[in-house]
Parts: sequence; C-alpha cells; structure tokens
Amino acid sequence: MTSETKIEIKGLTKYYGKTRGIEDLDLEVKSGEIFGFLGPNGAGKTTTIRCMMNTLLPTKGEIRISGELVTRGNPKLREKIGYVPGELALPEYYRVNEFLNYIEAMRGKPETRRQEIIDRFDLNSNLHKKIGELSKGNKQKLGIVSAFMNDPEVLIMDEPTAGLDPLLQQEVYKLLIESKKEGKTLFMSSHNLEEVQRVCDRVGIVKNGSLISIEDIENLNKDVPRIVEARLRNPDETRLAEFGNRLLEFRKHDSFVRILIRMEDSIKDNIGILLAQDPEELIYPPASLEEFFLQFYERKN
Ligand code: ATP
Repeated sequence: MTSETKIEIKGLTKYYGKTRGIEDLDLEVKSGEIFGFLGPNGAGKTTTIRCMMNTLLPTKGEIRISGELVTRGNPKLREKIGYVPGELALPEYYRVNEFLNYIEAMRGKPETRRQEIIDRFDLNSNLHKKIGELSKGNKQKLGIVSAFMNDPEVLIMDEPTAGLDPLLQQEVYKLLIESKKEGKTLFMSSHNLEEVQRVCDRVGIVKNGSLISIEDIENLNKDVPRIVEARLRNPDETRLAEFGNRLLEFRKHDSFVRILIRMEDSIKDNIGILLAQDPEELIYPPASLEEFFLQFYERKN
C-alpha cells in the first residue's frame, strides 16, 4: 500500500481576540499513520482540531483532508472523517440508537461497522437510554462508536481515551492500531505521554500555540526519562544530596524519593545508590508529560 498525504495543514493560525490559540502550524499526515498531537493544557490542540473539523473558523491558513479543502458546507468531508470531540456536545434528550441513526442519515453512507464497534465497547445495554442518562465513560464510548462506525478513511480525535477505564483504553488502542494497518489516517491529541508512545508513529509537540517539534516515536522515546520511586528505610542524607545533583530531577519527602534518570545515564549505577539505602519499596512509574519536557528541553538547548 503506498501512503499518501491525507491531512495537510498550512500556516494555520487562530486567535481568540488577542489570545493565541495556534499560530503558523504546518503539518502533514499520511495514510497508514497515527499522528499524535502532544502538549500541555492550553497548548492549542483543541483549537487545531476544531479548525480541522470546521467548527472553528481559522484566522489564517488552509487545511485539506483527503484532498478536500476544509470549508463550510463541503459535504464530501462528512463521509470521509470520523471525529471524536474532546467535549462531547451530545443531544441529551436523544436515545443512543436514535442518535446513531441521525449521524448515519447525516453522513448518507451505511454504517458498516456500527454493531461491531457497539459490541467491542459493550454499549448494547445502553442503546435505548437517553444520552443525558449516560455516565461520562459511556458518553465517551458513544463518541468512539459514532466516529468509527462508518469506517471513515480519516479519524480525528481529541483525547479519545479521556474518561475511559484502563480496559477500554486498551480497546481504543487496539482499534487505532488496526485502523492504521488498514491504511487509515489517524490524528489524535493527547497529554498522556505513555499513550502517545504506545500507539503513535510520529508526534507533533505543541506549547503555547506553537508547534515546537515533530518527532518520530523512536526519537521521542530517547527523551523520555526513566523514573524511579523508592521509600528508603535508611536514607543517607549526604549521599542523597550529592546524588540528587547529578540527576535530571530529584525529589525527596521524608523517606520517599522520586528520581528522574536521563535515558543515556546508567540505570544500574543510579538504582544501586537507592538499593544501598535499604528500600522498603521501589517502583518504576511512567514519566509524565512535564517530566518528558525536562529532558526534551535539555537536549534541544
Ligand atoms: P487542553 O489540553 O487543556 O484541552 P489545548 O491544547 O486543547 O488544551 P486549546 O483549548 O486549544 O488548548 O487552547 C489554546 C489557547 O486558546 C488557550 O490559551 C486557551 O485559553 C485559548 N482558548 C481556547 N478556546 C478559547 C475560546 N473559546 N475563547 C478564548 N480563548 C480560548
């Protein structure tokens, strides 16, 4: 399968009055690719996605999806794109089934995967409920069903796993990876570093309305520090102070320490120092986005 550009963004800028939403964004995503849009709160992820979905008018710039210019009233886009919004503005008084029928009628294309995705996300017992009666997680599942059910070639998702329990998050990841293998194009925003590392091929990193870098996932992984947390029975304050100075970050509270080890630094040496202080527990949690930024900026500067 040859990959072709399915999402093309040129010079996208959106200001809300004087507040910058996103500025001068250029990027391309190809078929068979999962592109992650990673950034802290307020970075401009939702603004970009809403411009892609034509629910927000850009101040400047151009977006093409599947070769179609994103403009108001371009009906071809509806059947090509599946969309999982960040905040689902669902009509509360509709029953789930009625809502899915409505989306199907609007797209004008049979929803070939509707029952399959409903089964996968275990939504059968909710089909006759009013949307307003659904829990947050079930609303999120409904958003995923409505985005994937007509098997669109492009999927645009604003934090697709938000509010889902870990098992269902895994089901979303499976669905994303299957879709990519089928040659679909997937664009997802996230502020969950681990999720992006798990499923994405490339990642655009946004901060304060600017795209600061686009990285292949292998390259991004080099900037993810390793975290170790330990509770020490015999903390050696002098040794810990000297040790802390060499690390990317060192935090201590009573007998609890959390250390950030740069990818290139030796795990053995650093954990050895903790082991020598008789830990009653030692865990290896995933790095947060903020912790990733510590190493990322150190390497960039
Ligand atoms: P989050 O992870 O918190 O959802 P985000 O990366 O999606 O953040 P955006 O919601 O796109 O970020 O916000 C980008 C900037 O635009 C922020 O400074 C935000 O306050 C501002 N902004 C977003 N929507 C509006 C709006 N409707 N009116 C005014 N400013 C807005």
